[in-house]
Amino acid sequence: MRKLALVPLFALALAGCDQLMPPGNDSSSAAPASEAASEAASESAVSDSMSAEASASAENSSSESSSVAAVDFPHDPATQLVSGSGQGYTDTSNWAPGICFPIAAATAYANSQVYSPGGDHYPSYGHASGSQCDSKNYSYPWHDNFCEARSWSNVMCKSGQGHQGQDIRPQTCKAKTYWAIAVEDGTITQVGSYTVALTGTDTPHRIFRYLHLDSGTLKVKVGDHVVRGQKIGLVSDNFGTSNGVPQHTTIHLHFEVRVAQSETLPDGTVLAASSFVPPYTALVDAYTRRLNGSDCQVVE
Ligand SMILES: [Zn+2]
Repeated sequence: MRKLALVPLFALALAGCDQLMPPGNDSSSAAPASEAASEAASESAVSDSMSAEASASAENSSSESSSVAAVDFPHDPATQLVSGSGQGYTDTSNWAPGICFPIAAATAYANSQVYSPGGDHYPSYGHASGSQCDSKNYSYPWHDNFCEARSWSNVMCKSGQGHQGQDIRPQTCKAKTYWAIAVEDGTITQVGSYTVALTGTDTPHRIFRYLHLDSGTLKVKVGDHVVRGQKIGLVSDNFGTSNGVPQHTTIHLHFEVRVAQSETLPDGTVLAASSFVPPYTALVDAYTRRLNGSDCQVVE
């Protein structure tokens, strides 16, 4: 199995909020605070099909084994996007080591929402559009989709634009069934029509954004302090409203990680920025711990 890269932690000159700069990039202010990618995918009939079983048997490693994971699962390497879905990115760092896996379910499937069955761009590959509940979407291997071709600004992407997070389908193709949980202790700092932001307490502070949760059953509000594993909301297909009409995407969690960094120039000018960073490596790590029985406990 793949070894995980260690986290690049930066010395931050500024305390507090969103200072940032991605590794190896000495530019200044690229702070794409745009709303989440429009991963509009056709909303097809949701069936209860596929129970999507993990092919990785979840045997527990016995007792005092070290940090070496006993169970692996099929997943593409970080930065390897679905063919034809964009130029991708190069950074494979674990930007959020030790986080909980963000969905409380036995299995989950990280993959593309638009370059997969039921997605807007799937037919361009000569396939029928298909259903979001297609078994391909609920099976391994995982596929990285950070920097997948989108029009959103993202300094981590080779093209300067791309998907700003990782899309994850829950265990089955069923909305409002699986809980998204806090990946780290922190504070809820934003609740939008389809977005919840959690600012972690660890430093440098990371901002985790959860998109498409069912807004009617959210268990948090702005200002709430949450602990690792605490329930936030149910994974759904909520995409806000347009002219009062509810909009839908596929049933999935769009999960983002943002970090802050600052740099002081020789003339004393302090540059600050925040950036989306690739969540995939951290998610593989967290999910591996899940399969090995050592992920966070769910907290009501
Ligand atoms: Zn997404």
